[in-house]
Amino acid sequence: MESKFDLSSLVRTNVANMKPYSSARDEFKDFTAEMVFLDANENPFTNGVNRYPDPQQRDLKVLLAQQKGVDAAQILLGNGSDEVLDLLFRAFCTPDKDAIITMPPTYGMYKVLAATNAIVNKEVLLTNEFQINLPKVLDAISPQVKLIFICSPNNPSGNLLAKETVKSLLENFNGLVVIDEAYIDFTDQDSWVRSMSKYPNLVVTQTLSKAYGLAGIRLGICYASEQIIQILNKIKPPYNVNKLTQERAFDRVQNSDQVRVEVSKIIEQRSKLKAAFKNVKFITKIYPSEANFILAKVDDAHRRYDQLLKMGIVVRNRSSQPLCENCLRFTVGTKEENQKLIAALHKINQL
Ligand SMILES: *Cc1c(COP(=O)(O)O)cnc(C)c1O
Repeated sequence: MESKFDLSSLVRTNVANMKPYSSARDEFKDFTAEMVFLDANENPFTNGVNRYPDPQQRDLKVLLAQQKGVDAAQILLGNGSDEVLDLLFRAFCTPDKDAIITMPPTYGMYKVLAATNAIVNKEVLLTNEFQINLPKVLDAISPQVKLIFICSPNNPSGNLLAKETVKSLLENFNGLVVIDEAYIDFTDQDSWVRSMSKYPNLVVTQTLSKAYGLAGIRLGICYASEQIIQILNKIKPPYNVNKLTQERAFDRVQNSDQVRVEVSKIIEQRSKLKAAFKNVKFITKIYPSEANFILAKVDDAHRRYDQLLKMGIVVRNRSSQPLCENCLRFTVGTKEENQKLIAALHKINQL
């Protein structure tokens, strides 16, 4: 099967034929040297950010590459994973012609990006257990389908998608399988990044927005073969990751011990929340979670959402999503925040 995968036939013709913009920093790379820089029309007065940032984010990529056991050339960074996902659409999907497959209930941006890029979004619902419906997905594959999006752990359900099923897709689909691992740090399961050498059509996205606690700096990560990364590099805006973001991200990734401490506290709080939910009568089902949130079914989601809101607690009502009728999604907060939530749930329970 793998031999049928042909990256060059997957790339949009205009992208294959274009020459990327070459920035001043691309043409002269060694900008740490003692040189006089008169090439980029910058303001010469030093203030920390008067120079353009490194367009290839070398330092950060080398650090990530070390930690993840990949080559720096297998990494592309973006302004959040949302930019990374958009680049995938623009590199591989021809507007008004191509299609993608998504599996609701899932992350809403795939659908938005498909619409923005005029790409057909073929939706194949997950099963009632929020797992991939393999026969239906295989059925939906056509020559127009260029990308299949898999979110694991899945948002909003919180569960991991079964490895064997993902493997079948990787082996039976000749487009790209994009696995969104925004929540991978909250589970014990290995990242799919480790399988990259086995599957030339595998793309993994991660983010510093969740476990790393850096939603405000916007840093998304794409891991894929060097060939795929080269294509994405051709079309990315030259300075898409700003200097402040590169610096903050580098510090945090380097200090991954602190991240691990916070993640383990969140996981501990997740099981405490889950236990507390069991004593709330109007919560009728708690879905298993490997992420930093819990999806729970209640008797009347709109009513319970409003009641919580009045008590100063904002959760996410996911009722409009397929298979999520009357479901609320609770992000795991600090111990104090979760105690407030539990107190509020008990109060509402007694009304
Ligand atoms: C939160 C989230 C992201 C994060 O996107 P960023 O643009 O990196 O903040 C990506 N995918 C999923 C499934 C998410 O839930």
